[in-house]
Amino acid sequence: MIFNLQHSINQHIELPDSSGIDLYLKREDHIHPFISGNKYRKLKYNLEAAKAANNDTLLSFGGAFSNHIAAVAFAGHQFGFKTIGLIRGDELFDKIYTNPTLKFAQDCGMQFKFISRSAYREKHTDEFIDSLKAEFGTFYLVPEGGTNDLAVKGCEEILTTTDKGFDYVCCAVGTGGTISGLINSAQQHQKILGFPALKGDFLSHNISKFVNQKNWELITDFHFGGYAKVNEELIDFINAFKKTQNIPLDPVYTGKLMFGVYKLIERGFFKKGSKILAIHTGGLQGITGMNARLKQKGLAIIE
Ligand SMILES: *Cc1c(COP(=O)(O)O)cnc(C)c1O
Repeated sequence: MIFNLQHSINQHIELPDSSGIDLYLKREDHIHPFISGNKYRKLKYNLEAAKAANNDTLLSFGGAFSNHIAAVAFAGHQFGFKTIGLIRGDELFDKIYTNPTLKFAQDCGMQFKFISRSAYREKHTDEFIDSLKAEFGTFYLVPEGGTNDLAVKGCEEILTTTDKGFDYVCCAVGTGGTISGLINSAQQHQKILGFPALKGDFLSHNISKFVNQKNWELITDFHFGGYAKVNEELIDFINAFKKTQNIPLDPVYTGKLMFGVYKLIERGFFKKGSKILAIHTGGLQGITGMNARLKQKGLAIIE
């Protein structure tokens, strides 16, 4: 085994007594100081597979602020793989030193190839992969967002026997790998709620491919206009949550998740007495990059 991840603690979240709800947040953001919880879990069995195949290079894709790119770069550095990151946006090549995610990845030894948005859409075609093999030699391909069967297997390790008493498990959804692992490892009496961080009807279909239980649902009201889109209400919520609970949330995933969970509680979605476990999947490395963009627009930042 390449690495063994510690189970994270469930932290109680203070709600007004009148809510009648018992809410906990699983601090997966604590399983590693730099790498967001779920991205590390998704890599675990993929790294083992790459090692088993004697593959010394990892190649993956992502946007300029991607938690996944940061995780691949760091894991490569830590476990002795060369890493290649294909970054969406060919205008970014001269932004490496001003973009905190790319700077971090480069410091971990990642080699970049910047590609146009249209080329990026074609990235999983055989032609494109063949051209990458011609350019870089053999590599282990980690899909965008890190989601594949082995990633889902890694995410099946997030829930533990001590989590069996929860009625609901709530998580943010990007590609659907994390929620798939939660669904597969959940008890039959538990309901898994996914809060997509982006618009897209393809998610249910993606998740269905990976799971063996039907006790899940997507809550699609809290994407705030799309991937990495934010507004003042969301930033205010993240800052207030940090102040009252002393827990940082990221603006792309976990901020939207907790905003959504709070709204559902307010709306009476959950029966009184429900025990809810939300998953803090990490992503905190993205705050610096988001703040730089908010500042540019003259908007309030994440404190
Ligand atoms: C990537 C990511 C997610 C989404 O995970 P998927 O498995 O792609 O659905 C959620 N939270 C954080 C912090 C992430 O970085």
